[in-house]
Amino acid sequence: MYTRNEFFINGEWARPAGNDILNVISPTTEQVIGHVPVATAADMDAAVSAARGALETGVWPKLSVLERGAYILEIANSLLSQLEYACHLQVDEMGAPYSWISAVTGYWLTLIQHDIDVAASIPVKEVLEGYMGKVVVYREPVGVVAGIIPWNAPIVNALTKVVPSLLTGCPIVLKPAPESPLSAYLMADAAIAVGLPPGVFNLVPGGREIGEYLVGHPGVDRVSFTGSTAAGAKVAALCGQQIKNATLELGGKSAAIVMEDADLDRIMPSLISNSLQNSGQVCVNTTRILVPRSRSAELRDRLVDEISQLKVGDPHDPITTVGPLVAERQRERVEGYIKSGLEQGAKIILGGGRPKDLPTGWYVEPTIFAEVDNSMRIAQEEIFGPVVCLFDYDDVEQAVSIANDTQYGLGGAVYTSDLDRGIEVAAQMKTGSCIINEGPLGGGGGPFGGCKKSGLGRESGREGFESYLELKSVALPAGFDPKE
Ligand code: NAD
Repeated sequence: MYTRNEFFINGEWARPAGNDILNVISPTTEQVIGHVPVATAADMDAAVSAARGALETGVWPKLSVLERGAYILEIANSLLSQLEYACHLQVDEMGAPYSWISAVTGYWLTLIQHDIDVAASIPVKEVLEGYMGKVVVYREPVGVVAGIIPWNAPIVNALTKVVPSLLTGCPIVLKPAPESPLSAYLMADAAIAVGLPPGVFNLVPGGREIGEYLVGHPGVDRVSFTGSTAAGAKVAALCGQQIKNATLELGGKSAAIVMEDADLDRIMPSLISNSLQNSGQVCVNTTRILVPRSRSAELRDRLVDEISQLKVGDPHDPITTVGPLVAERQRERVEGYIKSGLEQGAKIILGGGRPKDLPTGWYVEPTIFAEVDNSMRIAQEEIFGPVVCLFDYDDVEQAVSIANDTQYGLGGAVYTSDLDRGIEVAAQMKTGSCIINEGPLGGGGGPFGGCKKSGLGRESGREGFESYLELKSVALPAGFDPKE
């Protein structure tokens, strides 16, 4: 049993003001595997106040990016030194296949030096030529950040908030998802181990209501939110009322365009993994696969053949690629979409049910729908499960049009043997990011985020980090040259 009885506030463990606890249930065994306390408004007030103290009177904002980066690197190394434990803990709390969660967690932790280099390349003070004279532009920490994250990759999601926030000098209050709060505590353990100054990182678990309280807290200057589009709209409304700086990373319904010249032997691993990784529970997954009509039968056969060979089962088993869904309600949601696809006339060519040999755990078989019309719910709404939809297209213009005919605009992929043509097609997709043939979805180190209902703003890369900085322009008299 994993048990945590306190929050991490102002550099130390803090007793909760209330008595409620949050049980964490393994999606694999359906048993309670641990618990954490649930934050009340008083706990959140204490966390925000600690972060404000770190901002207004602490050393953190005064340190250089490289000095802050040294702490963050130590935290990352501390997590890397217990990577096995951290990954199995995440598997226990939210059911991700170990093969996937260990790859992404390890990968992100080794990217920290790159992030430090990017942050260090952003000038904190810059002299520009203005209309009349020179202008000194300062980039200052935006203030206290509220980081609110979902459950689907707990440590990576936390890193996407904590790393840019801390590198840019902004103390953070992190609210993990109620389904997966346990692994976030490893970050607090690491913060203590490396002597992170008090108030810089605060960890306060809870659900939607306390998340909303944190968003609206007057002591919070910026909200960095990752989650569903429905919750993002509420967060945006609250931030709008308060004119509060916010980034929203929301849902998706991304398309993979397989071009006529695609080499299936080369692309299948990437196509399948990018469509089904984490049992379909990744925002950027390409869950709509668009195929030229001339190659439709060939690709269907390959997908059915290769996806039916994926190991579905115990997510701790390193050869498992499809594990259980995070919660019983998530399985119900996915099954509801499968039912609606059938009712609207799509055809299941693989899966569609629960694996017969797995009576315990919230599993759904990897499922492929063919004969999908883009107006169907399964084509338009985010399912967040191991379900892909196949579409036939006649020419590339039609493929792009189907890909863009969605309320979302998060990721995308183009599979082709002609990389230059692939870039041209990717440029026509109305999404925040896209890959050609291979590599992880999600911006590849460039800015990452969504268009349309997939979000507002960007995280990662220079542009993502800059969103944690406030700009100030000091206009100087004509002819005056400031000292360096
Ligand atoms: P969710 O929106 O239900 O919850 C996400 C987080 O927000 C949780 O911590 C939750 O407690 C909190 N929350 C919910 N309502 C809130 C509110 N009104 N105010 C403040 N906080 C609130 O999403 P989920 O089910 O945990 O995660 C799945 C969703 O996240 C999917 O839609 C997926 O596409 C999206 N997601 C997006 C990205 C991205 O980068 N774009 C990455 C991962 C997941």
